[in-house]
Amino acid sequence: MGVYLDYQAAKPVDSRVISEMTIYLNQKFANPSSLHCEGDEATDALSEFRHKIAEFINAPDPESIIFTSGATESNNLALIGYAMRNKKKGNHIIISEIEHISILNIAKYLEREGFEVSRVPVDQYGIIRIDKLERLITQNTILISISTASNEVGSIQPLKEISDLAVKNNVVFHTDAVASESSVPIDVQEIPVDMLTLSSNDIYGPRGVGALYLKKGLRVNPIIIGGGQERGFRSGSENIPGIVGFGKAAEIMKNQINEEASRLRKLRDKLIKGVLEVIPKSYLNGHPEKRLPHNAHFRFDYIEGESLILSLKDENIAAATGSACSSKTLEASHTLIAMGLLHEEAHGSLVITLGRNTTEQDIDELLDKLPGIVKRLRLLSPLTPPDLIKKYNEVND
Ligand code: PMP
Repeated sequence: MGVYLDYQAAKPVDSRVISEMTIYLNQKFANPSSLHCEGDEATDALSEFRHKIAEFINAPDPESIIFTSGATESNNLALIGYAMRNKKKGNHIIISEIEHISILNIAKYLEREGFEVSRVPVDQYGIIRIDKLERLITQNTILISISTASNEVGSIQPLKEISDLAVKNNVVFHTDAVASESSVPIDVQEIPVDMLTLSSNDIYGPRGVGALYLKKGLRVNPIIIGGGQERGFRSGSENIPGIVGFGKAAEIMKNQINEEASRLRKLRDKLIKGVLEVIPKSYLNGHPEKRLPHNAHFRFDYIEGESLILSLKDENIAAATGSACSSKTLEASHTLIAMGLLHEEAHGSLVITLGRNTTEQDIDELLDKLPGIVKRLRLLSPLTPPDLIKKYNEVND
């Protein structure tokens, strides 16, 4: 494997997680709905690992954790489930302009179902405008859904202020915490949220499992109907090995999140400094300080992100341009456009996301290769101005 710097798109499963899961794949494989001893063992596992997820976010009641198949499903359950359950109370929902594609498309679906959706704008750093959010809330508003951080540019949202506004206006607040869950501790009691989306793979657990935290007493309509598992909120036989892996991953993450975040922050800062100092006409997208410790999002004038990624690929370096979930669409990122970038600016992006296995050598390797790649692409680009070409050629002479 080469240098992997695309941790927001996918993370390896921690080997401690795999060991724990294996037991539940081939030894303790029973269904928790069964009445025999083996079934009881599965029920115990479900309860034990639900507990670990609750601890991870400091939820007072483990029963408030609903296991799902992943973040997309949790977002569907939160938004569609809550909206459908409460449509008599009001039909207005607020999201931000830079939400993950799953939230954006759920919002479009709800609009087709008769709900009214407002999208809060963001500033040039990708931070939501609290003043605008406040003005958007009406008597009809039932739900605000804003992510803890941007999965793309890494800007961290003012969660406390959003939560305060939601409480003040008696509106339910949902947050998708997937982008930040590996580097920013979550405490649903310190910052009250009503619903919170988690994904297992984003904390080095297996794919195909996630959770929705549903504050005690809050009700949503299920979107998957069946045998009534997960207190009826999410039917279907529980994915015990997945849940065990997710719980184990959460336990490990809870123990080392601060240490891990500060290690990644140092590597990220070295990378940002190295890129901005050495490469002319390079910029950091997103907030300089209020950003995820593992995210560095760059923009380079006169070149396309796709060419950059393919050139890095030739050097065995894996990185991304734009959101992992829509990077093959070649459309300009909705997040960068919302931050006020022009289409051509939004196309020159490089997203580097670091993770548990990232080393200083990985960063050095990127810092070694990137300036030459950017230069080569710029010398080929018809958009590069003559003075920059001259400058590059002078350095060559
Ligand atoms: N929300 C955010 C912020 C994400 O980054 C992602 C993608 N990892 C999702 C939701 C959807 O996750 P999944 O595709 O695993 O359902």
